[in-house]
Amino acid sequence: MTDIHEVDSVEVRDRLQGRTCAWCATYIPYSGRGRPPSYCSRSCRNRAWEVRTAERRLQRDIAAAAMRAEPVREVRTETITRTRTRVQTRLERRPPSTAKDWVEHLAALTGQLRKDGTLAPRHWDHRKLYHALMEALVVLGDAHPGGLDELAARR
Ligand SMILES: [Zn+2]
Repeated sequence: MTDIHEVDSVEVRDRLQGRTCAWCATYIPYSGRGRPPSYCSRSCRNRAWEVRTAERRLQRDIAAAAMRAEPVREVRTETITRTRTRVQTRLERRPPSTAKDWVEHLAALTGQLRKDGTLAPRHWDHRKLYHALMEALVVLGDAHPGGLDELAARR
């Protein structure tokens, strides 16, 4: 009886052959000596470093902004323009043009000058009225043939 005993020896050797650049993914063959490179070139290494630095700076700024949490204050100017438009409608005051209308107007003036009339107590206005009436009377006399005397003589 023969005892055949077989022993298989398996040795697994793992050896890095190469890897891709951490920045541009270019394949970099590994020579087997020294630390395997992470980047294919100095420029890829620098680009990766710049990005990591920028990320750290951004994180720091975000953290600082969150801590600050100061409300933004604004100074504003409010200008209100108020426009008031006064519309005044003036009733057309055309002087009477006929003798009949003048007589009515003068009757109204007479009424206002009587006792309890609106113009009666306004003593400071009386001289103005006196002169206006006198001038009208004088000019009436000039206009009429025979003058005021002739007008007064006949009613
Ligand atoms: Zn690269």
